[in-house]
Amino acid sequence: MSPEIFDPLYTPVQFLKGVGELRGERLNRIGVKRAFDLLFNFPRDYLDLTEQVEIDRLEPDKIQTIVGSIESWESRSTRRGKMHALFVDCGKKFVKAIWFNMPFVLRDFARNRRVMLTGKPKFDHPFWTMMHPQITYLADNEDGNEFEIEPFLPIYPLTEGLKQHHLRKIMREMLPEYAQKLEEVFPQDFLTQHQLMPIADAVKAIHFPSDKQQIIYAKRRFVYQELFILQLGLAIRRLQHRTKLKATPLPSNRSIDIRIRRRFPFQLTDSQENAIKEILNDLSQSIPMNRLLQGDVGSGKTVVAIYAMLVAVANGYQAVFMAPTEILARQHLRTINRMLEDSRVNIVPLLGGQRPAERANILQEIASGAANIIVGTQAIVYGETPFHKLGLVVIDEQHKFGVMQRAALKSNEKFDPHYLVMTATPIPRSVAMTVFGDLDVSVMRGLPPGRQKVVTYISNAEDRAKWQDFVARKIRENRWQAYVVVPLVEESENFDARSLNEVYEQLSKEVFVGFKIGILHGRMSTEEKDRIMFDFRTGEIEILIATTVIEVGVDVANANMMTIESAERFGLSQLHQLRGRIGRGKKPGYCTVFTSNSTEESQKRLEVFASTSDGFKLAEEDLKIRGAGDLFGTQQHGIPPFKIADLSRDKEIVEEARKDAIEMVLSDPGLANPEHSKLRRQVLKRYGAALNLGDVG
Ligand code: ADP
Ligand code: MG
Repeated sequence: MSPEIFDPLYTPVQFLKGVGELRGERLNRIGVKRAFDLLFNFPRDYLDLTEQVEIDRLEPDKIQTIVGSIESWESRSTRRGKMHALFVDCGKKFVKAIWFNMPFVLRDFARNRRVMLTGKPKFDHPFWTMMHPQITYLADNEDGNEFEIEPFLPIYPLTEGLKQHHLRKIMREMLPEYAQKLEEVFPQDFLTQHQLMPIADAVKAIHFPSDKQQIIYAKRRFVYQELFILQLGLAIRRLQHRTKLKATPLPSNRSIDIRIRRRFPFQLTDSQENAIKEILNDLSQSIPMNRLLQGDVGSGKTVVAIYAMLVAVANGYQAVFMAPTEILARQHLRTINRMLEDSRVNIVPLLGGQRPAERANILQEIASGAANIIVGTQAIVYGETPFHKLGLVVIDEQHKFGVMQRAALKSNEKFDPHYLVMTATPIPRSVAMTVFGDLDVSVMRGLPPGRQKVVTYISNAEDRAKWQDFVARKIRENRWQAYVVVPLVEESENFDARSLNEVYEQLSKEVFVGFKIGILHGRMSTEEKDRIMFDFRTGEIEILIATTVIEVGVDVANANMMTIESAERFGLSQLHQLRGRIGRGKKPGYCTVFTSNSTEESQKRLEVFASTSDGFKLAEEDLKIRGAGDLFGTQQHGIPPFKIADLSRDKEIVEEARKDAIEMVLSDPGLANPEHSKLRRQVLKRYGAALNLGDVG
């Protein structure tokens, strides 16, 4: 027998006072099965009865709320249809509520029942009247003068066949008794120190708060708890990582630094210097670096990575640089080869389309240690690459991974390599601290000097011809190049999205006649893609029609015009990535977005996009609009979704919980202190598997 059945909190809801079989079943249907679930079935909002207006203070034509009890009602047919009117006694004066053709409002009318009306009143002698007000029943019995004792009434998530006032009544009955039985996970001192409401008080307050402040405090307690438990898990994982894994220190020094810098054709920016400093510090330790380098598109992450790789090489170790796509891997290869021309560093590619003999040769060089820097796609490198002495792994343009996905790359060495992960997806701090909570993060903001502004226009169909004329003229007169980005390859997937081939046909035959136009999409073979990119880079192609394969990292300085079709189909961060492809050279960039099926929401999103080029701002907006789970795939990566916390709204609490959790784990690494045992249990229960925490301690 499980001890649960002795725990009153596990009482099935139907046995609670005022519930019964039928309501019990309805509650079960929304996952509320036990007393415990009922306590945690938090209101989604509140009716604020303190904001009700006294009848003598009503003002005409302004939305207001008034409370009173039903005196009488009438129904009759009128020219406008069936009318129902309700007379509500608000202290010997009456408000007349009127509805046309809404017979269902009649259903719950009963004399003396207290109701709340929200609407725009008019004085229509001798009554104040409200047309089609919203009506809320406050209690189901005559003696219910609840608004005098409860200034806020909870509004629960919708439950079919269960009225708000039923649920309120049930809660009123059970709350005092059962809230008291909840177990407090935080030590008393901790609660005081961090200004957290004790659990019983918080649960009571969240259902029936006495004022607005209480709602805030009660919510804060639950949000904090949820975030703190995760941060404890992350802090423990970090600590485990630090104590279990060992890396070879790869220190730098002045002469290495000078030799590396000589290779760069420009002065590093402050952001780059800063990131390098943090990376060098990590590399010099015997704990593997585990760092995320976050830098907006074009902020110059590649150079930072090259710097780090050269430090590894200077120490006699190999470094591997992995990109998500072939196009990008080749571009990096070119950049690195150019910078390290006539140096002794041996750079080898691991790419698709290499002939077997060539591949064997390269693998041989990697295995013998003759290869110093290996550049390839993740797909290929993660195969059986026989590293000789792998010191550093750089993963470029990684934006879809969380705590689970840093698969191990090993070499003959018994030590683990250092990891540097780069992303151009600006991640709001609160999300980074959560999804990447066990990584150290370096942030590079701003762009290197000389980078050009990109002007963004949101255009409608009428502007199309004008924009196309502009593009054509700039190509003809100034030899500029242009991208046209289209959401999908196949027409069949969505009618509104202009498919690549359709766009190609139309543009080459009707609009850009005589121009050299190319197509690029993800289904092409590697060779084809390479040929197209080569032609585009050399100017052989003037207009490149592409899907989002050009999204990440591609750098063609002369291409500074971009058309984005069906822009409503892209997320803000994705649009930002796309736009980051232009304005990379010495000329300003021009980006024009067209929509094919725009909604109010997407229009708003595009306006935000046009208004700023700050990727971090856009990411914050994206987070607000779409939520963290959707945006950063937190859920796919083993972190269960939050129940209460919201990474956009609760930013400050994330920071606080993180700081507090790190502090607790530093002073009590295994949460072995008996005071922490309940916290420990919660961490293991919720995140033990996801974070691979093992036994802890
Ligand atoms: P991203 O961070 O998007 O990967 P890249 O590393 O591709 O950016 O750099 C974008 C462009 O800026 C490249 O052409 C690069 O050569 C240039 N760049 C990088 N650092 C500097 C710098 N310190 N000064 C001037 N140009 C720079
Ligand atoms: Mg890059």
